[in-house]
Amino acid sequence: MSDMLIEKLRKNRDLTDDELRSLIDSCEHDEALRKAADEVRRERYGDAVYLRGLIEFTSYCKNNCLYCGLRASNAKAQRYRLSREEILACCAEGYELGFRTFVLQGGEDPYYTDDIICDIISAIRREYLDCAITLSIGEKPRGSYRRYFEAGANRYLLRHETADPAHYAKLHPDNMSADNRRRCLFDLKEIGYQVGSGFMVGSPYQTTDNLIADLRFLQELQPDMIGIGPYITHRDTPFRDEKSGSVELTLRMLSILRLMFPYALLPSTTALGTIHPSGRELGLKSGANVVMPNLSPTAVREKYSIYDNKICTGEESARCRDCLELRIKAAGYHRTRRCEKITVHSK
Ligand code: SAH
Ligand code: SF4
Repeated sequence: MSDMLIEKLRKNRDLTDDELRSLIDSCEHDEALRKAADEVRRERYGDAVYLRGLIEFTSYCKNNCLYCGLRASNAKAQRYRLSREEILACCAEGYELGFRTFVLQGGEDPYYTDDIICDIISAIRREYLDCAITLSIGEKPRGSYRRYFEAGANRYLLRHETADPAHYAKLHPDNMSADNRRRCLFDLKEIGYQVGSGFMVGSPYQTTDNLIADLRFLQELQPDMIGIGPYITHRDTPFRDEKSGSVELTLRMLSILRLMFPYALLPSTTALGTIHPSGRELGLKSGANVVMPNLSPTAVREKYSIYDNKICTGEESARCRDCLELRIKAAGYHRTRRCEKITVHSK
């Protein structure tokens, strides 16, 4: 019965809500789902795995998302900022190591004004014409997104977190809304960015209906990348007593996403590797085709503590890359240097 559902999902890239519910709520057919997702991924992308170098450049954040260790009210969080020169040094090291995409991620830190962000983007763009510059710095006015784009940024990652406004309100303080998140994502798309969205699996209060709403929202947005990972408890947040999300459900959702969005870039995330020793390999085998090794300076890695026990905090960038390459091979894939689809818009 469910194998028919999997075939239907693969063929139509869609199912009814009830059909999706029966796939999401049962572990019975995980193996068939994983097999179908891997076949679709291999039809589209062969055995290629794309690498993106992640530079976590600030651990300051003005927001107070209830799930995140970097939230402004967490007085125990260790804060740091990287200078333009330090960020450029990470890019130089990353380029040497073969990365052709740099992802600049951070909390929403007012220290980095639009002028400073544009200055950093232009400096990277000048040196690395063959690289994609991805930003992941949260919710901004449309005009700011436009300025970053004109300075040379071409991709933006902003998870929608949860598409259900009531669920969103349980995870965020009153000054944040699912509506503004949505506005940001559609602005980014209209400006011309390749957009990545996504959600946490197993976040507090999440229901199967919430996950279905997430899939429906993604069908509407049609993002280039979909980043999902398990929610992981952080000891210094209001959710300290909540349970983390499970590997099984995260892998199941990855496979469903691969069948619904065959073209999408799907990262096998650090969070998945944190809750299971082979989480990232299992992610790749379940339909994911991107990994994001850390390029941040080793001295600051531990301070970017979004959730507890984050892996890869003690490693140098070269070791991180080598370790991931071995994992990719062991899972039956190969990494690629190629940076697909980059268009540079800098003036
Ligand atoms: N400030 C930016 C980027 C940094 S946070 C932003 O919020 O978009 C990047 C992602 O980390 C978030 O989108 C969220 O999905 C994820 N995250 C935050 N806290 C987490 C937790 N406790 N467990 C798992 N993922 C978490
Ligand atoms: Fe800040 Fe992003 Fe963490 Fe929210 S998820 S507190 S915006 S770093």
